Amino acid sequence: MSQNNCIKCDLCLPCAANIHISKVITFIDELNKVDKNDKDALNKILSDDALAIEMKHAEECRRCYKCNRICPNKIDVPLEITFNLSTYKKFVKENRP
Ligand code: SF4
Ligand code: SF4
Repeated sequence: MSQNNCIKCDLCLPCAANIHISKVITFIDELNKVDKNDKDALNKILSDDALAIEMKHAEECRRCYKCNRICPNKIDVPLEITFNLSTYKKFVKENRP
């Protein structure tokens, strides 16, 4: 289970802005699985172009709250998007060679 209880059921899709919600809001969990001294693992995240595109795309969330109404775990998706997005940006800034 993720830290925000997202079970990646994808019932919240399609998103009004075509964001792959579960991928974005579980970024912090994926990052937490990585040993911060493992440069190869960190570089793999940094060079994940699909992830970078998805995170950039997540900035287009329209705050329509369609996802919140559908989510069985009552996750505040826009809030989690903001949280995961800022963590991703901080990670890139701190680890970019
Ligand atoms: S609130 Fe954001 S993430 Fe949720 S459906 Fe609307 S645009 Fe998509
Ligand atoms: S509906 Fe909720 S639990 Fe399912 S993927 Fe979307 S945010 Fe995660």
